[in-house]
Amino acid sequence: MSKKVVVIGAGFAGLSAATYLAKQGFEVAVFEKLEKAGGRAQVFEKDGFRFDMGPSWYWMPDVFENYFNDFDCKVDQLYDLIKLEISYRVFFNYNDSIDISSEWSEIENVFESIETGSSKKLNTFINAAQQKYEIAIEGFIEKSGLSLLEFVNMKSLTGAFHLDLFKSVKKLVASHFQHPKLRSILEFPVLFLGAMPQNIPALYTLMNYADLKLGTWYPMGGMSVIADSMVEVAKMQGVKFQYKAVVQEIVVKNNKAVGVVVDQKMHSADVIIGAADYHHVEQYLLPENFRNYTKSYWDSRVMAPSALLFYIAIKKKLNSLEHHNLFFDEDFEVHGREIYDSPKWPSRPQMYVSVASKTDPTIAPKGCEALVGLIPVAVGLIDTPEIREMYLNKLIKKIERLTGEDIESDIVFVKNYAQNDFVIDYNAFKGNAYGLANTLKQTAILKPKIKNAKLHNLFYTGQLTVPGPGVPPALISGKIVAKEIVKIFL
Ligand SMILES: Cc1cc2nc3c(=O)[nH]c(=O)nc-3n(C[C@H](O)[C@H](O)[C@H](O)COP(=O)(O)OP(=O)(O)OC[C@H]3O[C@@H](n4cnc5c(N)ncnc54)[C@H](O)[C@@H]3O)c2cc1C
Repeated sequence: MSKKVVVIGAGFAGLSAATYLAKQGFEVAVFEKLEKAGGRAQVFEKDGFRFDMGPSWYWMPDVFENYFNDFDCKVDQLYDLIKLEISYRVFFNYNDSIDISSEWSEIENVFESIETGSSKKLNTFINAAQQKYEIAIEGFIEKSGLSLLEFVNMKSLTGAFHLDLFKSVKKLVASHFQHPKLRSILEFPVLFLGAMPQNIPALYTLMNYADLKLGTWYPMGGMSVIADSMVEVAKMQGVKFQYKAVVQEIVVKNNKAVGVVVDQKMHSADVIIGAADYHHVEQYLLPENFRNYTKSYWDSRVMAPSALLFYIAIKKKLNSLEHHNLFFDEDFEVHGREIYDSPKWPSRPQMYVSVASKTDPTIAPKGCEALVGLIPVAVGLIDTPEIREMYLNKLIKKIERLTGEDIESDIVFVKNYAQNDFVIDYNAFKGNAYGLANTLKQTAILKPKIKNAKLHNLFYTGQLTVPGPGVPPALISGKIVAKEIVKIFL
């Protein structure tokens, strides 16, 4: 008889783990608290507008393709994926912006126009970033992080010299480029990993390769179509889903996790995977003596930021914004200190704005735009409606000031979303948006372990464990945990 697996949470990692295990013949049931799969990639829909509430950047298309290929599917059979011609626009000031194109020669031209000789250095830099990307993808990104031995005899060790593990992204970028604009473009992608460029190993300049060479893509309909497709593929493999099903407890008997309680009802299992926030699974669902980590362990973690988000419906077309826009008019050092060192609401924040309706006419009524504004903020702040309102005004003023385009009088409605909502919706530790910061001390084997040390049949997956935050890593995380389970239980 096939073994029963229960997965707690239908985010990207839970979906991935469930599907890999179902393919191997396990009987898999997924319990999801929300009405829909996708975890942090929920959708807000109103009056013909449709907003991606979480992730909006589709990077590393190879990871998605490989994922679906593992189930004999292809991305182009599942959704319409397009490469953006302009990956993103960076605003430094009014009348001072640059576009990062999908064409390498145009990126070289932009660099050269800002700093003479920089296009040649960019090629050297990006070739090294490509090497890191390839070593990571082929060598260690799929490792479970359970033992240092995993890293012996693999390509990553032969290539370790190239990985720049002990140099920071900031240092590496600064050793190639002088101009602050170029430095900020090359430092920006690591912000996805939830730490400042000076605290992230230069290994992660692999993200520059993903950004500048592999490009920025968009699945028509929005990021939630990825999760919809994953659910479709999971169901084809036999995975069963229950939505609005909050797991209240992991039941342990005789040193074994024997099932989960949902709505006072016990669902038995041979193997359990916590694919909700790791901290929530351990601290709230599991008896204290079976937890891998204590409260003080969690309190000492460096979390990636939370986010203050605005979903703004606009009743006109905007001419000055691209699909993805970065507002780098403020000093990120100051903003970063207010996120990590002395957490407070940011005094002069950098911001990100996406207008996916520029690419996708299906997500806004004709002649309108669906705009999302995001401000990275520290976790654990006091979050009030008045504070959110104040930052909405800052966001609108900033867009108007830097683009010269009036938007305030054309706003139809605004919905805001911030850390209290992350806690309520996703049980997110301290309201984090992107999990743990990928600092050197929180990388690979130093991340919370995917396996419970006391219960041989309890596992974890998702952005708080290996390999880290982001949608592609979440897909990989599910694959890693499934591989571990297959090794032990099949
Ligand atoms: C605002 C924002 C912007 C982002 N931007 C990007 C981006 O542009 N590109 C990118 O690649 N990544 C981005 N990310 C990161 C990316 O979205 C996440 O890393 C990834 O989605 C995490 O997936 P996960 O499966 O680990 O966790 P989650 O998405 O959190 O999934 C966990 C699931 O568990 C459920 N759950 C929780 N508790 C329970 C319970 N007790 N019982 C049952 N179910 C439970 C939750 O409802 C949730 O559905 C962004 C994230 C946010 C929040």
